[in-house]
Amino acid sequence: MSYPVPVDEQQRLQDLQSYDILDTAAEAAYDALVKLAAYICGTPVALVSLVDRQRQWFKSAFGFDCRETPRDVAFCAHAICQPSDVMIVEDAPRDARFADNPLVTGDPHIRFYAGAPLVSRQGHALGTLCVIDTVPRHLSAEQCEALRTLSQAVITQLELRRSNHELSERNRHLEQMALLDPLTGLFNRRALDLRLREEMQRHRRHGQACSLLLLDVDRFKDYNDSFGHLCGDELLRRLAACLRTSLRGSDIVCRYGGEEFVVILPATAGPEADFSAARLCQDIAASDWPCRPITVSVGVATAADDDDAVVLLERADRALYWAKEHGRNRAVHSDKLTAIVDNDEVS
Ligand code: GH3
Ligand code: MG
Ligand code: MG
Repeated sequence: MSYPVPVDEQQRLQDLQSYDILDTAAEAAYDALVKLAAYICGTPVALVSLVDRQRQWFKSAFGFDCRETPRDVAFCAHAICQPSDVMIVEDAPRDARFADNPLVTGDPHIRFYAGAPLVSRQGHALGTLCVIDTVPRHLSAEQCEALRTLSQAVITQLELRRSNHELSERNRHLEQMALLDPLTGLFNRRALDLRLREEMQRHRRHGQACSLLLLDVDRFKDYNDSFGHLCGDELLRRLAACLRTSLRGSDIVCRYGGEEFVVILPATAGPEADFSAARLCQDIAASDWPCRPITVSVGVATAADDDDAVVLLERADRALYWAKEHGRNRAVHSDKLTAIVDNDEVS
């Protein structure tokens, strides 16, 4: 069987897709509206039908045990071609368009159909709210108007669903943004606090090793003074990219503030953390930078049994301070500070 195609078919299908409603579960709000439509029109069947490319799919079906039918037998495929009119077929066998329709000649033996198009805010008829009977019928003007009003309530539900969806997407985006540093795109201090707390919990509960690098650009004030603040910003961006590429995907790189960065190294014990830190220092010193070479100093700390996040950061900070005091461009592990203080030399 053939069916008429609306003039706005492509945009109509896109609009329908944008609601993300097809093949979703039944919802009480739609079920209540179809039940009302059936009661008001006095029919045994009422449907919210959405006309997809090849099928009509029922978001809600009252008195009809079926989720979809092919589009070429759908009465609604005709109804959506006149978006502003309620299409009424009082006696289908006497209507040339439907007389030989298998839904008329066979099960469920449709005789009466009235469908109010579901017109989106963009003006496309997505489907209908329709009522069906197996005997010929006539709708009063009031019933017809009620069906139209209920179809608008269905659209309101669809719009509400889309706004909720957009709102939660926007919230998700905002939540992500709230954890990122705008200059470098790295995690910010808030994200660091959250992630470090998680890693320390894993350490305490499951004994998983955890190390941390606190990294500070050497003589960055001088870099700013020599080349300007904008060049300083550009350097921080490039350094962030360098940290991301040099470290493992599982390492968590954060901008701690200013020209200081923290890297959480999950499941990493002291020697491995030392190795990462030393390699970072070498890579950074050997890389090409826009205005002049730069170096970094790194304080390394590894979680001991009852450490919390604050203690771990404090220990990394002490090691960083020592590295700064003793020549910069170096990585120092906090566990070695006692030995260093005794011998005044890094092992
Ligand atoms: P040290 O080797 O001891 O770390 O010396 P330093 O000059 O790096 O340290 P100091 O703390 O004296 O200076 C840090 C500088 O970082 C000062 C500040 O202007 C600069 N800075 C902080 N945040 C930013 C930023 O977002 N952009 C730029 N361009 N500079 C920043
Ligand atoms: Mg600093
Ligand atoms: Mg510095």
